[in-house]
Amino acid sequence: METIEEITKEILNCKKCDLYKTKTNYVPGSGNEHAEVVFVGEAPGREEDLKGEPFVGAAGKLLTEMLSKIGLRREDVFICNVLKCRPPNNRDPSPEEIEICGEYLKRQLDAIKPNMIVCLGRFATKFIFDLFGLEFSSISKVKGRIFEAQRWGKKIKIVPIYHPAAILYRPQLKEEYEQQFRKIGELLSKKQPTLFDYI
Ligand code: URA
Repeated sequence: METIEEITKEILNCKKCDLYKTKTNYVPGSGNEHAEVVFVGEAPGREEDLKGEPFVGAAGKLLTEMLSKIGLRREDVFICNVLKCRPPNNRDPSPEEIEICGEYLKRQLDAIKPNMIVCLGRFATKFIFDLFGLEFSSISKVKGRIFEAQRWGKKIKIVPIYHPAAILYRPQLKEEYEQQFRKIGELLSKKQPTLFDYI
């Protein structure tokens, strides 16, 4: 089984689509490769492109704040995006870019085998729902609900929520957002049963 480090090395040399020509830095993802939960965003923005790190701009600050409210540091989780390069002027990712670059995300998930995947926004949710055979209608219909799927020999949870940038535009949603993070925190602290729970 390949490691996050091996996948990162490959991403840092990727020329599979044209986005590498306009990016400053690749943004493979960061955090703990043994994380229980992976947060998936859409694509790097300007700050992320400049630093090579996911979610370090204004939306990232909000994400970091939400994590800290449930006792998590960025190093405790794994944070990445569907696309590893910034689309020029933050345009939407194209279906081809998602298909090509999404292969890296699939491999990252296979390497980490998280118990939970939190999808930040519409693009991440659509990608992860397609991957797990769940039906995606719209982010406003599924946000905050807990979906389950069978993968890596266990039951995992898939939690779609709004992208943090959406909360910056609509601060009236922040309380609901905090509530969703609290739910994520509670679900995480319920550990998976082990053999010892049955004897
Ligand atoms: N928005 C995203 O979807 N990802 C980032 O890394 C930053 C902003």
